[in-house]
Amino acid sequence: MGLRRKKNRAAQDAVPTLGTPHGHESHGHAPQGDRAVELHGVRRQYGRGSGAVHALAGIDLTLPRGSFTAVMGPSGSGKSTFLQCAAGLDRPTSGTVRLGGTDITSMGENKLTALRRTRLGFVFQSFNLLPSLTVEQNVLLPMRLAGRRPDRRAAAEMLARVGLADKGRRRPGQLSGGQQQRVAIARALVTQPDVVFADEPTGALDTTTAAEILGLLRSAVDSLGATVVMVTHDPTAATYADRVLFLADGTIADRLERGSAAQIATRMTTLTRPAYATAAA
Ligand code: ADP
Repeated sequence: MGLRRKKNRAAQDAVPTLGTPHGHESHGHAPQGDRAVELHGVRRQYGRGSGAVHALAGIDLTLPRGSFTAVMGPSGSGKSTFLQCAAGLDRPTSGTVRLGGTDITSMGENKLTALRRTRLGFVFQSFNLLPSLTVEQNVLLPMRLAGRRPDRRAAAEMLARVGLADKGRRRPGQLSGGQQQRVAIARALVTQPDVVFADEPTGALDTTTAAEILGLLRSAVDSLGATVVMVTHDPTAATYADRVLFLADGTIADRLERGSAAQIATRMTTLTRPAYATAAA
């Protein structure tokens, strides 16, 4: 693996340009400004009565700023639903989601869309760049959509940070998959969001390129103080995170701090074993 994992927590304080705090009324013990994502009693039910599916069956979670969290779990365990609810793309049936201290569960659709554009970043497996725009225009898109003045300097700085300083005028189709995902990461970070949600960001990449992309996400956390939440099925990818949350049947069944790939894989196996299902029932 070419890119070392860095765990420099202090680094986030050294970067005044990133992470402008939003709405942090202080609240008792932990300052609210330190919490990027908070879920309280989040449930998401599909259907009703005996046919109801409890995709999320009560999630309580606080993720601090400047942290990197991986979310894993067997198929159908609720990973996508978790990501969608945490990112304000879907509404929980009950419970609350706060992003950077703002309760988004009661927010109207227009406000929520605006919040997603400015305070959240997204990285998808399939990159999701607009092919007709240049690389620079893709990075500037969140600002344009939010009605902000496009900050070309910020875009150039972010492209340089992801190793694409000379590619701003290219089109996504002229770049490799790994380079396209770098553009997506630059786009996700350029607004200095409260949190970046990454959905299988390395699912379409070879092992070496995947390591580079994961190293970039790691360094965004360590050197920019970004907060990353990544859904992955890959134990090696999950080792880049500070912690792994394991979902099973819509609940957080387990968590592991800074686990090795072998430890993470073993926990996954435990989750999918029928014995676990019986014990959890
Ligand atoms: P994962 O991403 O871990 O595979 P999902 O969040 O997609 O899990 O799904 C969790 C559960 O919710 C599954 O049982 C799935 O079948 C169900 N589910 C997800 N979306 C819908 C939907 N739109 N309608 C009905 N059931 C759904």
